[in-house]
Amino acid sequence: MAGDALTAPPPALFPGREARERLDDYLTRALADAAERLLRGPVTPDIDQDKLRRELAAFDFAAPRPIEELIDWAIGCLEHGTVHMTHPRYFGLFNPAPTFPSQCADRISGSFNPQLASSGSSPAPVAIEAHVIGALAQRAGLPAQAAGHFTTSGSEANYTALVCALTRAQRGFATEGVRAFAGPVAMYTSRECQPAWHKIAHQAGIGRQALRLIGTDSLGRMDVKGLAEAVLQDRRRGVVPILISATAGTTGAGMVDPLSACADIASEHALWYHVDAAWGGAALCSERLRGELAGIELADSVTIDAHKWLATTMGCGMLITRHPKVLSDAFQVGADFMPSTASSIDPYLNTLQWSRRFMGLRLFLSLAAAGWSGYAAHLERAVAVIERIKERLIVLGWSVANDSRLAVLCVVPPQGSAPVREIARRVLASGRAWVAVTTYVGREVVRICATHGETSLEDVEELVAGLEAARGAGS
Ligand SMILES: *Cc1c(COP(=O)(O)O)cnc(C)c1O
Repeated sequence: MAGDALTAPPPALFPGREARERLDDYLTRALADAAERLLRGPVTPDIDQDKLRRELAAFDFAAPRPIEELIDWAIGCLEHGTVHMTHPRYFGLFNPAPTFPSQCADRISGSFNPQLASSGSSPAPVAIEAHVIGALAQRAGLPAQAAGHFTTSGSEANYTALVCALTRAQRGFATEGVRAFAGPVAMYTSRECQPAWHKIAHQAGIGRQALRLIGTDSLGRMDVKGLAEAVLQDRRRGVVPILISATAGTTGAGMVDPLSACADIASEHALWYHVDAAWGGAALCSERLRGELAGIELADSVTIDAHKWLATTMGCGMLITRHPKVLSDAFQVGADFMPSTASSIDPYLNTLQWSRRFMGLRLFLSLAAAGWSGYAAHLERAVAVIERIKERLIVLGWSVANDSRLAVLCVVPPQGSAPVREIARRVLASGRAWVAVTTYVGREVVRICATHGETSLEDVEELVAGLEAARGAGS
């Protein structure tokens, strides 16, 4: 066999430079055209499901197809088959229209495809990620030794916090699991918490029953007295309290739990204190808004999702902790095949993931391009959009249910309107805007969140008109 030439690499998978540049240009233009069309179309999907099923069925992967055709097909699917987070009238869940620098980051990291498991393989990416985490830790007022890492999601970050809490609370947890504790363990958060905590309790092996959902005050913030009582009562019954997670920016209503008071209770009982600021943590970037998060500096760990209000592409979460040693206690492992250099910083020895994508470049490039001031402008603009919507709806007889100074508004229509669920259904059916329904402090509300960095006053008027029409007010 020696001397036989290898076959040429399949050009469909590995085109040469000239073809690649042409296709890159083709893709760039196709995406820009789609983005323009998208603004003129509905926010909601209008795909023909039967047609999609037929087209998918035709992909038997027997005969190769030209990539241009496939690019057009895939863009068409996304253009017609998704709710458009990139539409300025998506007033939706915390999913953003992504910043341009974060899209550049995806292209760069997709091109080099570095393995971030170890600092030996990826010294520069590991250092860049650590630098961004350090900058946010400092912004949060955490001590200089604070560190952390990027995660695929806020849920992974919250899960990591629970594993850290268990690991620190009981040495034997590493080897024996929860059996090492003197009794059943418990963690505490409010009933307005993000519901992934149920799955996290399940996954971590403490069981869903271990999740204590503390009641809230009339505005949906964790009731501190109720929290203190629940911890005390558990202790009296032989339950082992592990962690308190306060939410800074609830998913439903953007409310912030009393962060300092929760910290005091955690400190009194030597519990791990976590602040879930997946969405609201972005406020740290604005001098005008960061006061809303006072008390976050007392946390043992903090979750912030860059893919929410910081508007990077998905999924880009962060876990920051003042106890980096606990991360290494929780995730250390021996692997002699790894090009390991420094166990204190190698991500595979300090985090849940092994193979790891270069997620942090998204936030690094965005922050570096815009500066804190650029991000502050983005955040404060979202708050102004919500203020405007609030003013307009109040004039029309709607009432405001929540009291968030961040960019989420929960509203109830005037007496005699269609039910909230029906209003939201009609708005979505019209394609004019996207809003959510949620239950907030026991009643159904229309939930409106400013997530798009370019929403205009005309977009606000269109939303208001859409809501008014949907509630049955004519127009
Ligand atoms: C979004 C959110 C989560 C979950 O984060 P994912 O990135 O969606 O996994 C957790 N907590 C809060 C407060 C959130 O807003």
